[in-house]
Amino acid sequence: MKTVPFTKAQLEKIVAQYPTPFHLYDERGIRDTARKLHKAFAWNKGYKEFFAVKALPNPFILKILREEGCGVDCSSYTELMLAESCGFAGGEIMFSANDMPAQDFRKVRALDGTVNLDDISHIDFLKENGGIPHKISCRFNPGGDFKLGNTIMGNPGEAKYGFTRSQLTQGFKKLMALGVKEFGLHAFLASNTTDDSYYPALARLLFQTAVELYEETGGRVTFINLSGGVGIPYLPDQPGADILKIGAGVQKAYEEVIVPSPLHQVSINTELGRFMTGPHGYLISRVIHEKKTHKDYLGLDASAVNLMRPAMYGAYHHITVMGKESAPCDHKYDVTGSLCENNDKFAIDRMLPKTEIGDLVVIHDTGAHGFAMGYNYNGRLRSAEVLLGADGQATLIRRAETPRDYFATFDFTHLLDEALQKDENGRL
Ligand SMILES: *Cc1c(COP(=O)(O)O)cnc(C)c1O
Repeated sequence: MKTVPFTKAQLEKIVAQYPTPFHLYDERGIRDTARKLHKAFAWNKGYKEFFAVKALPNPFILKILREEGCGVDCSSYTELMLAESCGFAGGEIMFSANDMPAQDFRKVRALDGTVNLDDISHIDFLKENGGIPHKISCRFNPGGDFKLGNTIMGNPGEAKYGFTRSQLTQGFKKLMALGVKEFGLHAFLASNTTDDSYYPALARLLFQTAVELYEETGGRVTFINLSGGVGIPYLPDQPGADILKIGAGVQKAYEEVIVPSPLHQVSINTELGRFMTGPHGYLISRVIHEKKTHKDYLGLDASAVNLMRPAMYGAYHHITVMGKESAPCDHKYDVTGSLCENNDKFAIDRMLPKTEIGDLVVIHDTGAHGFAMGYNYNGRLRSAEVLLGADGQATLIRRAETPRDYFATFDFTHLLDEALQKDENGRL
């Protein structure tokens, strides 16, 4: 049973101030999750979570996470700018690279963030663009399938990320010759998994690899980055990941592999995105049309530009019709947006209570990879983001786009001014 952390009356007050559609984030939920995560890894002295900025790139959310002791994992020049503008610096910034332009490397080096290098060929590229730091991390790709028991969790052999095992040995030697004193090791081998054995199995693999690399090269790994991938229960009857159990599982692997090894002590890092904010975001929308043809459709004022996951992956997102939480779900609907794309459906054949035009519809679990994956197809504009504060007050943390934003990249022409003069909303 999925619930929402606000009442219908509370939501009606918020939509009176901020018109639908918008994403609403629950500050209390985000803080509680961050605290639980820190509790799960409290046994590790240097533990740090680097929140994956790409999941929810909003400075107000990043500041909340910073207050909770998190750093940031950035993946581009502008994400690094965002981190910098929120006050993150040095050891609070991780840059998990892959096919990165030169300016991205120069920026992360200027901020003294930690570079998590994706490929052996990028060593020379980094040397030319920002320089080789004393402390650096490398991404590991073990190839083949990544299995837990008989279950295939991921397919690293097909993934574009990381060094092969032999490249790690070569890479460590080369980096040491260039002055590196401290190494990190990172891998991302499964996505959105609620299986509590994923992190412990990944940790054991990285711990063992770190010990081997020390024996082979003398390069000392001082931090192990378990990356993201811990999932959330999108389905109403799906059990969630038990982060305390996951932390204990990683601790067991640590005690068995690291403690007796010559490394003795390493810091654990994570780069969770979805797990941190996913369940604490809600896309708030209103039913604007009801259509009955070969199927029954509810047309919302939101569309896939506000939340792409159902259209892109067929992902399930739970839907609550406000005020009808305990009504029987005895009507079958396709819940759609307005894009000229038949995959613009938030749900297909979903059983819901009888729903009317004007009803407020809440789409769950949009707090990660939701707004962030938004786009402007069909000339649709990005929505606002609103924070439901721990004090129950709603605050605008990103305004909705207006036609001015849509035309902004034509500001070298007369088109922008002419379009704005004819905008019926008069938003100049
Ligand atoms: C996307 C990504 C993450 C976050 O993934 P989640 O599934 O949101 O936890 C972390 N690290 C890297 C390198 C990523 O690319």
